[in-house]
Amino acid sequence: MLDADFFRRWMTVTAASVDREAERLTALDSPIGDADHGSNLQRGFTAVTAALEKEAPDTPGAILILAGRQLISTVGGASGPLYGTLLRRTGKALGDAAEVDRAQLADALRAGVDAVMTLGGAAPGDKTMIDALVPAVDALGESFGAARNAAEHGALATIPLQARKGRASYLGERSIGHQDPGATSSALLIAGLAEAADE
Ligand code: ADP
Ligand code: MG
Ligand code: MG
Repeated sequence: MLDADFFRRWMTVTAASVDREAERLTALDSPIGDADHGSNLQRGFTAVTAALEKEAPDTPGAILILAGRQLISTVGGASGPLYGTLLRRTGKALGDAAEVDRAQLADALRAGVDAVMTLGGAAPGDKTMIDALVPAVDALGESFGAARNAAEHGALATIPLQARKGRASYLGERSIGHQDPGATSSALLIAGLAEAADE
């Protein structure tokens, strides 16, 4: 079963990998965006870990709702409200259970991803974070490792796509041939689940 400690670890290991990969995320956002994705998320996840230490919420749902709120208020840009909605909606779907199993997490995360698609209007194939998140949620019923691999594969699969949402879409065909920064950071978020489960 996945308890509050697991969800706290998920957020802290994700914050650490966002720190490590911030320059790469910003570099990916340079040819098809405004070169701020790494610094945006670094600021956001630093705020998430600080808030979790200060407020110490004690259920999985409350942890994700607090994390999502921090992302919305600190990240700005397109990705802040989208990631914030993902975590808040997922947390809301977990309710006030003290522990959840992987299948319940998969269902909750699917509700979160659906909310991101409603808010941002992106569908799979539009070259956004959705291209990593949807395959990850589909694979999560199998295992955390399968979800991580599916997200990484989904992020790589954005390279040949033309962007249809977000800043990259302004480039039209010139967005082809570049990996989407948000799909790449989503793969980090999902890899964080597998890492938190291993610890
Ligand atoms: P901004 O584009 O405002 O500078 P970021 O650089 O932080 O924001 O995030 C860019 C990422 O956000 C993109 O790589 C893409 O994955 C994601 N994104 C942008 N618009 C949308 C959308 N409408 N739906 C889903 N994801 C989106
Ligand atoms: Mg950007
Ligand atoms: Mg920006």
